[in-house]
This record gives sequence, C-alpha cells and structure tokens, in this order.
Amino acid sequence: MSVFVSLGLEPIINAAGPVTRLGGAPMAAKVLEAFADAAREWVPLDQLQAAASRAIAQVTGAPAGIVTAGAAAGLTLGAAAIMTRFDLGLMDRLPDTTGLANEFVVSREQRNGYDHAIRAAGGRMVEVGFDEIAAGAGVRRTEAWEYEAAFGPRTAAVFYVYGPRSRPALEEVVKIAHRRNVPVIVDAAAQLPPRSNLRLAAITGADLVVFSGGKAIRGPQSTGILCGRRDLVGAALLQMLDTDDRFDLWTPPEELIDKRQLSGLPRQGVGRALKVSKEEIAALLTALAHFVGGYYDAKLPTYRSGLDAIVQQLAGLTSVTCFLRDSPDGESAPSLELQIDELRLGRTAVDVCRTLRSGHPPVYVGQSLLDSGRLRIDPTCVEKTQFAALAERLREALS
Ligand SMILES: *Cc1c(COP(=O)(O)O)cnc(C)c1O
Repeated sequence: MSVFVSLGLEPIINAAGPVTRLGGAPMAAKVLEAFADAAREWVPLDQLQAAASRAIAQVTGAPAGIVTAGAAAGLTLGAAAIMTRFDLGLMDRLPDTTGLANEFVVSREQRNGYDHAIRAAGGRMVEVGFDEIAAGAGVRRTEAWEYEAAFGPRTAAVFYVYGPRSRPALEEVVKIAHRRNVPVIVDAAAQLPPRSNLRLAAITGADLVVFSGGKAIRGPQSTGILCGRRDLVGAALLQMLDTDDRFDLWTPPEELIDKRQLSGLPRQGVGRALKVSKEEIAALLTALAHFVGGYYDAKLPTYRSGLDAIVQQLAGLTSVTCFLRDSPDGESAPSLELQIDELRLGRTAVDVCRTLRSGHPPVYVGQSLLDSGRLRIDPTCVEKTQFAALAERLREALS
C-alpha cells in the first residue's frame, strides 16, 4: 500500500510544480539510490561537506560550496558567516547581534518573505530605493547610488534577490559594494534553469549565492546549496556542524576550516537547527550531476505530449481557452495556461481550484495567474500515467 494511504491520506495530482507545500520535486531513481546507499555507511559530516564543496565548486565555478537544508537555510547560514566570520564569541551570541555590523542593505523591491531567514541569524534589513512601479507613482527602479548611500559602519552586506528583471544589475551592485569592502549575498533559489545560472557567483563576483536543491535540481526538497567565498562558506559550515567533539581530536577539512585560526570548537551554532543528513547530501549531489548533465531535458517531450492530451480533452469547452507555453530555453518544463471565461462558466477560477482540490484524486494547479482567471498547469510533478486522470478532472471541473 502507498505509504500515504497507510497514513490515511489520499495522494494528489500535483500540477502546480515542485512547490514546498506539496512536497517538492520528483527525484530520479539514481537520486533515491544514492540516498539509500548513503544510509548504509557512515562518514564524518565535515569531510562529506568538503567533498560536496569540491563537487559544487566544479559546477558553479565558485571557490567553495556546501549542502544546506534548503536555500532559506543557506541564507541564514550565509548571513551568520558574514556577521561572525570565525569569531567563536560572536558565533556563540547569534542571533544576538547587538553592537555588531548587522545591516543587510536591500532594495525595497526585493523584500520578500524569505528574507526572514537572514533576520533569523540576527540580520537587520535596511531598505533602499522605492517600488514606484508597483505604487503607480513613477517609472524608476532602485539605483546603484542608493546602495552606496546606505553603507556605513553597521553594514554587514548587500542582500540581493536575483531574477531576470532584478535591477540594478547584480554585477553593478557587486562592483559598488566591493569598492567599500561590503560582501554581497544573493538569493537565486528558484533561478534554475537555465543551468548557466549555477555560475552566478563566478560570473558576477557575488560573495555568496544560494540555490534550492528541491526545485529544478530535483534533490530532496529539504536541501539547498550555499556557494561562494571559501572563508564565508567555511564559517557557515562551522555554524551548522555538530561540534560536540574534542578539539584535540577534531580534524576539520583544511580547505574550508583552518583549525590553526581557532582557539577551540564553538558550541552548537545558529545553524545547528538547520542540519542536513549524509543521505540528503549524497542525494543532492547526485541530483546536481543529473541537472548539470541535462538528464531532465529528456523529459520535456513527455511533458509536452501530456499537456497536448489535456488540450485535446478540453477541446469543445466554450468556457476555457488553452495557451501552451513551450519550454523557453530547452531546459525549463513547458506549461499550459487555462483561461477561464468566468461569466460563461458561472464560477470563478478560485471556485474551480476549490473543486479540483476537493475531488478524487485531488488536483492542485499553479495559482500565480488566478486573479486573471487563469489556471497554470506545470507538468514537472505529474507522472506520465497521471495525465489522463488530470485531463479528465479538468474537463469535469470546467464543464
Ligand atoms: C523557494 C525560494 C526560497 C526557499 O527555498 P528553499 O530551498 O525551499 O529553502 C527562497 N527564496 C526564493 C526567492 C524562493 O523562490
């Protein structure tokens, strides 16, 4: 029996994509194998993270990287590392950052719920610029000089949320920050694909970059990557490790943690609540190799034909118009948008979502366009065998 059925739950059809609230991305057989293999053997976690660092460095071009408990965990660890470096006393105090350089300068347009992860380490957000376009009060975006004007003795770093429309350009912000010796930490959690974005730190000079492991990389959903400067990645690792060892026996990986610079082992750090298991690390690294190798691209035709089947099933319904969005880059999944004529149907798109969720099997669709009366179908988490049932449930809900 399905493990979820035995727990009294009905498995859903996830047409919303690899979102956290529905359980993340599908993992390839080899990824699950790596997880199971890793469960049968033991290695010191710091040595395993050093091996992860070498693998991550190779695909990102960054000097170092570790596997974190998600991109948000990477932000907490990265922020902690920036504020404490290898100072044991400061590590011990977090998230109390009284008197420390604890300000993260961020464009007001880029504020979002995930920056709680930086505040969780003791960081304070200092906003610059305005969101004048959203306010309908102007046409200008945040400008580089506004970051510079906010720098002062309490500045810890620039926090930058990367996306194709982010302004000013990351390169420009990095240049201005580095001129004042201010590091830049970047949230690029969902900016994969394209695969080329893995090289963001190497290309832009950003000091730290985080990616989700449980989105396009299709690792365990509780994983992520923090990559960038070796000293900062090392300080982040130290604050995540279980430090209940003897200092005289402890042999941390030299390339990340220089033991000679430490007068002892820190107590369990602010990152200890964000630990990752050896199984998760092994699975994420396997998934990362799949992602980089283009293994997932081979699934695109299957997605496309599944979406085509839905379009066919909905043909003839007068209250819905289908818009197929092909893969923009040969790496991202295609998607299907269903524009609902709410007047003709007599129900809103939100009503349709409610119907889809409450039927059998329950169907969850993408909600980003709901306010425009559009359902979004992301095929990434839909099994090949589920497309027929998905099309059937959509037809019934839209008739
Ligand atoms: C998904 C996401 C996160 C959180 O990533 P996790 O890997 O789930 O921790 C953070 N920031 C942005 C912009 C995201 O899209």
